[in-house]
Amino acid sequence: MLDANVLESYRTAGGIAAKVREEAGKIVKEGIPLIKVCEVLERKIVKEGGKPAFPLNISLDDVAAHYTSPPDDKTTIPPKALVKVDIGVHVEGYIADTAVTISVGKVGMELIKASELALENALKTIKHGAKSSSIGEIIEKTIKEFGFKPISNLTGHLLERYNLHAGKAIPNVKTRIGFVLKEGEVYAMEPFATIGEGIVEDSKYAYIYRLPSPKASPQFLSYIAREFKTLPFAARWLIYKFPRNKIEELIRKFILSQTIQAYPVLMERGKGAVSQAEHTFIVKRNGCEVISA
Ligand code: MN
Ligand code: MN
Repeated sequence: MLDANVLESYRTAGGIAAKVREEAGKIVKEGIPLIKVCEVLERKIVKEGGKPAFPLNISLDDVAAHYTSPPDDKTTIPPKALVKVDIGVHVEGYIADTAVTISVGKVGMELIKASELALENALKTIKHGAKSSSIGEIIEKTIKEFGFKPISNLTGHLLERYNLHAGKAIPNVKTRIGFVLKEGEVYAMEPFATIGEGIVEDSKYAYIYRLPSPKASPQFLSYIAREFKTLPFAARWLIYKFPRNKIEELIRKFILSQTIQAYPVLMERGKGAVSQAEHTFIVKRNGCEVISA
């Protein structure tokens, strides 16, 4: 069972995440700069009383995940894009993680339906004792019935305070081994559907970073440790605090010394368009509470 204050924080984070997701649906349009979507939605998270749990992810077409605008990003939303907006909100470190796929120019409507229905079907089966492998099986089956593939090497994940990926992974395909979900645990579930191969690969680009350990002495790292703890961050978030021309150099240096971890942009291997749907839920004795609905 979750402590009442913890539960309250989760519900607040979930409510904010849902509002921001709604807002994403209104502002994502052909020709809008990606950086504007990132900034507007991250600002809304703060205005509503939360903090970003990670940089806003805005991933186009066969980019499956982990794209956020670098500073000075000039990319705009192309016509006929499939736009995945992935939003993380935390309140006192308690995280809600939710995503939606928006079609600009009416492409990929079935692909969007596939990931949404997979999420819906799988959420219906959640309760104390639900098996991760069965969840993966339902997601896989639902997506395949549409004629698409689930992305097998992306998963949902257990959430803990200030910890976005707290060890246990909810698969998007049937797995041989697995675990059982327990009452009071909080998870994000995120089916991805694609017309490609169903596998993502690292690209050579990374715009999202993380400090794996919160104890760090140089001023640059202490600031990151204090502001973002061990949650993911973007270079955009540092430009008001540090000299613009130094940030990328410092980040590169600390990635090389393995002080900072980088999250490469994930691309679908077959260059197939990808859709994603995601909610965060609390496992209950006889069901679950979706906090980001
Ligand atoms: Mn997410
Ligand atoms: Mn997630």
